[in-house]
Amino acid sequence: MVRVKDVMKILLIYPYFLEKRIHEEDIRAMPIGLYYVGALLKEQGYDVELLNWHALNNNPPAIKKTLKEKAPDMIGFSVLQANRWGAIEIARLAKEVNPEIAVVFGGVSPSFLWGHFLTRFPEVDFVVQGEGERPFLHLAQRIEKRANGKSLEAIAGIAYRAGKTIRRNQPEPFLPELDDLPNPAKYFTFQHVVSSRGCPWECLFCGSPAFWGRNVRFHSVDYFVTQLEILRRKGVSFFYVSDDTFTMKKARVIEICREIIRRGLNITWAAISRVSDVDDEVLSWMRKAGCVQISYGVESGSEKIRHLLNKKITTPLIRKAFSSTIRAGIMPRAYFIYGNPGETPETIQETIDLMLEIKPLSAIFYILDIFPGTALYEAYKKATGATDDLWLDRIEDIMYFETDPSLAQEQIMSYGKRLREAFYRALPEFVDSIDLVEEEELYPFHADFCSRLAMTFTHGEYAHVKEIRNKERLAEKLYSKALHYYPDHRAYLGLGILHQKEGNLALSIRILLQGLDHFPRSQELAMCRGISHMNLGQFREALSCFDTWSGEPGVERLIAACKQALAP
Ligand code: SF4
Repeated sequence: MVRVKDVMKILLIYPYFLEKRIHEEDIRAMPIGLYYVGALLKEQGYDVELLNWHALNNNPPAIKKTLKEKAPDMIGFSVLQANRWGAIEIARLAKEVNPEIAVVFGGVSPSFLWGHFLTRFPEVDFVVQGEGERPFLHLAQRIEKRANGKSLEAIAGIAYRAGKTIRRNQPEPFLPELDDLPNPAKYFTFQHVVSSRGCPWECLFCGSPAFWGRNVRFHSVDYFVTQLEILRRKGVSFFYVSDDTFTMKKARVIEICREIIRRGLNITWAAISRVSDVDDEVLSWMRKAGCVQISYGVESGSEKIRHLLNKKITTPLIRKAFSSTIRAGIMPRAYFIYGNPGETPETIQETIDLMLEIKPLSAIFYILDIFPGTALYEAYKKATGATDDLWLDRIEDIMYFETDPSLAQEQIMSYGKRLREAFYRALPEFVDSIDLVEEEELYPFHADFCSRLAMTFTHGEYAHVKEIRNKERLAEKLYSKALHYYPDHRAYLGLGILHQKEGNLALSIRILLQGLDHFPRSQELAMCRGISHMNLGQFREALSCFDTWSGEPGVERLIAACKQALAP
C-alpha cells in the first residue's frame, strides 16, 4: 500500500562514532546545529524528527527497523570527522530500505570534504556546506517540489552529484541576523546552547574560523535568554554554553547575566572562554547568574609551542584568568594539548610548571589531532602530498605525532601520563590554596562552589581517580569551608554523610540538625540524621526523623526496622 503523506518526512540523525569512548558524555549531546535546522523545517511545516544515534554502533537490524517504520523521504546527517563512518553506514542501510531516500550530509566534516564524500560514497546524494539551515531548507523544498521549478544549481551552499560530475554551488552567505532563525527551544529540549557563531582567532588546530568565519555574529540577549527560559520551563536547569568564546563582548555577557538573574531562571551553566576575555567584573556577574565552570584553552606551558599553534595568549594572561576565575568561585578548567610540533621533555615540564602555577581545578589533556578545515591539515597535505582520500581509512583522526618523524608514539604517550599524574598529584594542593574574593554578595555562591567541588571528590569525576590522595579529607575541608560562607544544603548533607561513614555519629547528627534548622523540609537531611541515630541504637529518635516521610520510597523499610528494634 502506498503511504499517503501530506508533508515530507525528514529525519535528522546524529550518527555513531567509530571508536568507543571511555567518557561517553563527550559525544552524547547532539550538535546544536541539528536543532536549529529541525526548528526551521518544523516552522515551514515539515514532519521532522531528530534521532540521537551516537550509541547505535553495530546494530544494523535496529537501524533498518526504525528507518522502515519512520519511512523518511529525506535524511540529514550531522557529520563530524569521528562519526563519518557511522553516517555512511546508516546512509547505506537507508538506501537499502528505500533507494529513493535523499541522503544529505552536513556539519563540519562534509563542509570541508564535500568532494570526498560525493566522489567516494554513492549513498551520499547531497552535501550542505557551512551554515546549514537555509541550504537544507531550500534543498528540502526542491526535493519536495515546493520550490516551484527552482533548479539545484540555484540552491546556494550545497554540493551534489550531477551524472558523473560533482557540482558545488556558490556558498550560502552567512545569515546576517541569527535571531531570524526560529528558536529551537520552542520545538526541542536540549542542554548545549550557543549565543553566537564564529571566532575571530585562528588557532592552527581549530576548524571553527574556516567553518563559521572570523566575523562573530551574536544572538540578541533576549533571544538567548528566552531560549534558556523556555528550556528551564521544560525542566533543564544545567546548560553548556558552547560558544567558541562566550566572553568576547564583556558588556553583552553582563547584560545576559543580568537578564538571567532578572528573570529568576535559577540555572547553572558552564562556558568556554579565552584567557584574554575575562576580568573580575564579568566573572562576578557570571557567577551570580549561575556560571559554575569556565573552560580555557591553555594548550601548552611553552610560549614557543603556543606561538607555533598560533594561540596568541601570554603566560601573564593565563595566570590572571585562572586566579580571577577561582577567586570568583568558578571552577576553571584547563585544556592542554601535547604531542605538539617541537614537543620535548622540557616543553612538557614547562606545561607542568605552568599548571602548578595556575592551579586549575579541572584539566583535560589532548594529543594534538589534525582535522580537515584546520591550517594544520592544509600544511600536512602540502608537505606530504596527501589527499582527502586518506579518510577512506577507517580512522577517526590523524594524530600530529604520526606525521612528524621527530616525535615517537611511545614518547608522546609517556608525556600524557606525566601530565595527568602531575595534575592529580597536585590537585589536593590546588584545592588547599583556593582563595575566594571577599565579597559578601558572593558568599552563597562561594558556599555552592565549595560544596560542589567537594562532591566531585566523593561522588563526581574525581571519586574514582586513585591517583588523588586524601579525597575524603579534601571533601570534608571543602564542605566546612562552604559552611563558613553560607548555610549550604549540599555541604550539610555531605558532611553529615562523611562523618556518618567515619563513625562520628554524634557529630554527623549535630551537623545534620544544624542543616535542618536552615532546611526544615529537607528529606535528605532528615533521612541521613535518622540513619545516624539508628547506627547509635537511638531508634525512637530515628523514627521521629522518618515518620514525616512515611510513604516515600525506601522510608517504610527504615520505619519497619526501627519498630522491630523497639518491639518488646
Ligand atoms: S581554539 Fe578557540 S580561540 Fe582558537 S580559533 Fe578555535 S575557537 Fe577560536
